[in-house]
Amino acid sequence: MCGKCCRSIVFYDGDKLIKTKEQFERAKLKNKRMNMFEITGVDETDGALTFTCKSLAPDGKCKVYFFRSLYCREYPFVKPDFIRKNGQTLEGCGYTYGVNKEFKEYLK
Ligand code: SF4
Repeated sequence: MCGKCCRSIVFYDGDKLIKTKEQFERAKLKNKRMNMFEITGVDETDGALTFTCKSLAPDGKCKVYFFRSLYCREYPFVKPDFIRKNGQTLEGCGYTYGVNKEFKEYLK
């Protein structure tokens, strides 16, 4: 409920991270829901644009909580690929990803 995950969003257009305003404009034409986000920064590690949801209230709460997308409802359950690539939740987030048992336990 801190709203951090609503402020540091990156998007893909196909298999490419959105890194330019032009890419974002094209993505908006394909998917109207992209209009719900505004560019608010650039990720220093890969140059991806970072977005903030326009439905995020100043107090960090969601203004459309009961109508938020499935993606928001499922957070922090993400695609396994995200975790395999060492994806992590944001610093200060109440959620973390980690292993629930040792590798050898899976082999039994
Ligand atoms: S719809 Fe609500 S929960 Fe989803 S990103 Fe926007 S502010 Fe966050």
